Amino acid sequence: MNIPTLIGTHAHRWLIDEPHGPTSSGACRICGAHREFRNWLWETDFTTMTERELVA
Ligand SMILES: [Zn+2]
Repeated sequence: MNIPTLIGTHAHRWLIDEPHGPTSSGACRICGAHREFRNWLWETDFTTMTERELVA
């Protein structure tokens, strides 16, 4: 379906890449807008973060 008038007023359909670190980059399938998404799994997993610091 081609719905060009949707651009600007649509709900973005984010295609999110695989996570690279704490953030993931996504692009809207409709308008091509780019956005950075925070990987909440990393933010909330405090134990993992602490362990990583200890290893490093
Ligand atoms: Zn969009």
